[in-house]
Amino acid sequence: MPSLSDKEKHAEQMKLVRHKDTRIERLVDWALEGEGVGGYERNARIFEDKLVSNKKREVDFYFEEKQLALFVHGCHWHAHQGCKRAYFENSDVNHKKKLLGTRARDKRLMQKLHERHFRTLIVWECALPDVKSKKFRSDEELRKMVGHEKTRLVVKKATSWIEGQKIHCEISGDFYISS
Ligand SMILES: [Zn+2]
Repeated sequence: MPSLSDKEKHAEQMKLVRHKDTRIERLVDWALEGEGVGGYERNARIFEDKLVSNKKREVDFYFEEKQLALFVHGCHWHAHQGCKRAYFENSDVNHKKKLLGTRARDKRLMQKLHERHFRTLIVWECALPDVKSKKFRSDEELRKMVGHEKTRLVVKKATSWIEGQKIHCEISGDFYISS
């Protein structure tokens, strides 16, 4: 079998990442639903123009009426600053560059959204229970985590922020070390 090119390897990696990200997004989706929070659209492509890169960006949870964008970010791929789960120091130079690129792009995206009078919320993976293991491929197992203490706390913080006035908020877990 021919070996995969770097490009193909990257594509494979990104597929896995998307899968993982989807898992934490699904968890947040169910948890919000469980709290009776509605009025949002998942993976919404709300902009006609290309906001910050050559790709149209999707908003993980788009609350049209409230003009609000909620993102659920994986700590590694979005290079969560100061977070142990970002595994940033373990990455090689090229990979670090890529991660820093994503971090910078995310920052620009938030700025653009604020310019357009959006309020933004980022829920970091480390605030949620760890659902990386294989058993959480099953929706049934994943759903059990809706009742987890950490998930409940995230939803509590998120809903109180949604009802508030603040422009931007980030919810991080215990692993967060402020820098
Ligand atoms: Zn984190």
